[in-house]
Amino acid sequence: MLRRLRDEVCFANQNLPRAGLVTMHSGNASGYDPETGLMVIKPSGMDYDRLTPEALVAVDVTSGTVLEGQLKPSVDLPHHLFLYQNLPNVFGIVHTHSNHATAFAAVEEPIPAALTAIADEFGGPIPCAPYVDNEGDHIGRSILAHRRERCPAILLGHHGVFAWGGSPREALKAAVMVEDVAKTVWLARQLGRPADLPDKEIEKWWDRYQHRYGQ
Ligand SMILES: [Zn+2]
Repeated sequence: MLRRLRDEVCFANQNLPRAGLVTMHSGNASGYDPETGLMVIKPSGMDYDRLTPEALVAVDVTSGTVLEGQLKPSVDLPHHLFLYQNLPNVFGIVHTHSNHATAFAAVEEPIPAALTAIADEFGGPIPCAPYVDNEGDHIGRSILAHRRERCPAILLGHHGVFAWGGSPREALKAAVMVEDVAKTVWLARQLGRPADLPDKEIEKWWDRYQHRYGQ
């Protein structure tokens, strides 16, 4: 069951260390299949290089009940569940503590729209939600309250990054891009204070990238 989704979520998880986004077990990816109403997520504390599609844990999105899997799901399961329950058209989620992006989160600063790549992927600055603990739905509610429409990622104050998309692969791409642009802005700040792109320019880049770029 969920063969293809399991493959995609396994691929996304295995790419977190390959892309330099996680240290040890500090990140996770999940995917949601709206036809069956199930999501699959990484098991808690498992090494990425030992992860197989079969080891992933399948969970009913409406009830939160674990339906398939011998292992305990990621401790971040409640946040993934809450986002699938509340964000339409989100079918993949990635959470990381990637270094440059989390440095912005540590000082509770958004990543400013100082680069065309940020306008392309995120359509404006990547917001930062204020610190919350990880009890219950605190993280999920904070993401809903502080996310910016059309921006597929958010920083969580003093914590890390959540990124999402229409598939696990899209969520992985958003998480990789958050870290990449955070690193570039951080480097730019060693040289000076980079200005934000004007809103009109952000719109032009966003529109071209979202509607005309690629095959
Ligand atoms: Zn975390």
